Amino acid sequence: MKNVRNSSPTLVLVVPCYNEEEIIEKTAGVLSDKLHRLECSDIISEKSRILFVDDGSCDETFNILYKLSDMDSIFSVLRLAGNSGHQNAILAGMMTAKDSADIVVTIDADLQQDIEALDKFIEKYNEGYEIVYGVRNDRKTDGWGKRTSATLYYKLMHALGSKVIPNHADYRLISAKALEALAQYSEVNLFLRGLIPTMGFASDIVYFDVKEREAGKSKYTIKKMLTLAMDGITSFSTRPLHLISVAGFIVVVLGVIMCIIGLVDWINGKNVPGYTTLLVIMLVSTGTILLSLGVIGEYIAKIYMETKRRPHYIIDSLIWKEIK
Ligand code: UDP
Ligand code: MG
Repeated sequence: MKNVRNSSPTLVLVVPCYNEEEIIEKTAGVLSDKLHRLECSDIISEKSRILFVDDGSCDETFNILYKLSDMDSIFSVLRLAGNSGHQNAILAGMMTAKDSADIVVTIDADLQQDIEALDKFIEKYNEGYEIVYGVRNDRKTDGWGKRTSATLYYKLMHALGSKVIPNHADYRLISAKALEALAQYSEVNLFLRGLIPTMGFASDIVYFDVKEREAGKSKYTIKKMLTLAMDGITSFSTRPLHLISVAGFIVVVLGVIMCIIGLVDWINGKNVPGYTTLLVIMLVSTGTILLSLGVIGEYIAKIYMETKRRPHYIIDSLIWKEIK
């Protein structure tokens, strides 16, 4: 169901920043320039702003943001008490912005995602879509390793029944209505890319070009990437648990068959040169058991974290000035 809209919506750009001192000032310039242009053409309202979420940076990022917000009320800053991770930083920003915005667009601080795609995002919103996903045209700027692992990951996610949009990485527009719905989800293991498509609002895709990171290094360490990937799988699919049962069943059936064969051999008085067979069976079965325990452990860990109901992020302070 879509409702065509024709007013200029109030936009809040949510920008998560973690140790981005090298680029943040430039980013602020590029983004505010874009917002001013959109305001001038009446595409968005004059109340639109940029909300930086400082995700517990330990460099100069916050001081730079503080100065920027002092100079221009278009810049707001939400400072988190510690490093809560990209997904939580985005959530913190969206939840802070939702009551003052008609639409929120989340974008990384490193200018890799093409800000010019905003026009198309807003066009789609005006056509009546509640969520618009930014999908990258190609992955040329990524190394071979990241590209291959990403492709394999999306294939795996789909095989496991998740609705993630391939090559979409949290550059998206989301309407206030959809944000209100998102606020009702209280799960601790947050994987927005999987969660948002399950809400079921009218959504569309906009393609954009990815650029090289202009300054600073990627803040996504291998460890953070693996955690995100694991969260994606275990917070959306219980299929691995089913697969374990199936694998266990197959191993048991094979074991029974081996027993029968062994017994028949024994009755026929054959010498069983069973050492190798035994070894193989033992290795395979203990391996399977350990793996299965590991997967079950992953889920138990998730349940453990969920039962604690810990907050996603802790807010240290918010700088949010009236725009005159
Ligand atoms: N980021 C964050 N918290 C973190 C890690 C990253 O807020 O713990 C932000 C980071 O500042 C950037 C965005 O998330 O704005 C994406 O990170 P990055 O560009 O390093 O990831 P990549 O593009 O390499 O996947
Ligand atoms: Mg980046």
